[in-house]
Amino acid sequence: MTTSTTTATTTSTTTDADRAALHFGFFELEVLRTRRVGHSFLRVTFGGESLADFRSGGRDQSLSLFLPQPHVEHTVLPSTDEDTWFAAWRGMPADEMPVMRSYTVREQRTAPGGAVEVDIDFVLHGDSSPASNWAGRAREGSRIMAIGPRVAANKSVRFQVRPDADLLVMYADETALPAAAAILAALPAGHRVRAVFEVPHEDDRLALETAAEAEFTWLVRDPGTGAARADAVVGALRAAELPGIADGSAYAWLAGEAGTVRAARRHLVQERALDRRAVRFTGYWRLGASEEELLAEAYSGRAPSEDPESAL
Ligand SMILES: Cc1cc2nc3c(=O)[nH]c(=O)nc-3n(C[C@H](O)[C@H](O)[C@H](O)COP(=O)(O)OP(=O)(O)OC[C@H]3O[C@@H](n4cnc5c(N)ncnc54)[C@H](O)[C@@H]3O)c2cc1C
Repeated sequence: MTTSTTTATTTSTTTDADRAALHFGFFELEVLRTRRVGHSFLRVTFGGESLADFRSGGRDQSLSLFLPQPHVEHTVLPSTDEDTWFAAWRGMPADEMPVMRSYTVREQRTAPGGAVEVDIDFVLHGDSSPASNWAGRAREGSRIMAIGPRVAANKSVRFQVRPDADLLVMYADETALPAAAAILAALPAGHRVRAVFEVPHEDDRLALETAAEAEFTWLVRDPGTGAARADAVVGALRAAELPGIADGSAYAWLAGEAGTVRAARRHLVQERALDRRAVRFTGYWRLGASEEELLAEAYSGRAPSEDPESAL
């Protein structure tokens, strides 16, 4: 009796912050090896003892990486305590403070000896951006820190397709291609997928494995396309046959450059009559804005909403 009362009380007072603390934790990731995949991607394989507690939920599982400044070899955070790490990190001198960036777990696996390995595919888009720069100079033995999942059912897995969804519509640019690849790998047979993938180079058209019945349209972007990139993506979606999209059994997952993602969502909801609640959309980055600037917008409440119910 006492036990069940305690359990009920604990459950009813568990806050989002409590859940986040249970679901996520700090991990030290050590670079085991790197490999170029496609023209724009560098696959970094990480290991490390702390990964024994890492539980990726698969699909578009994201995590936050802390990457050292160019003159620093390994990431060091003054605190990894859940209550103090943020203030301690933000209080570091600017030229020592690691940058925090969002990335996707492309794959988690157990190596033959039993150690856990995690692959992350970094888009190399220039040395003046901290994460891209770090990836370009990552060497075996480099150590970084991450906040990642400790339970597989966690809020950073955004892709939650209903089992009865008949048609999955996808859009991803190169930054979201690792997530799209992991989603496709997890989809069982019986799903129909129509996907538009937009990449900077012919050789970024990666071989994607899936048991689903899938059709991919690849768009190779012209250099310097800028804001007009959204037109090509919406054009490809407009040309796609999406039978049954408006009958309640379709689901869309859209991720990539924020302006393009919003344009794709508008097209699906306004022109193709897809229920807006059936669209999961995420701006992975925005032309002209660093992740710090996007986070500052989010903290100040100025960021555009990614709630499915939000206005178009
Ligand atoms: C949930 C989530 C998952 C993500 N997963 C991945 C992933 O698996 N792999 C991956 O490569 N990225 C991924 N991203 C995107 C990545 O976090 C951003 O591209 C990030 O801005 C890269 O940091 P940076 O330090 O290189 O550039 P920043 O310092 O953030 O930006 C500097 C400048 O570069 C521009 N920029 C940023 N990214 C790109 C790009 N790819 N191409 C051209 N210009 C760019 C910005 O607009 C800005 O002008 C993900 C983002 C989110 C939110």
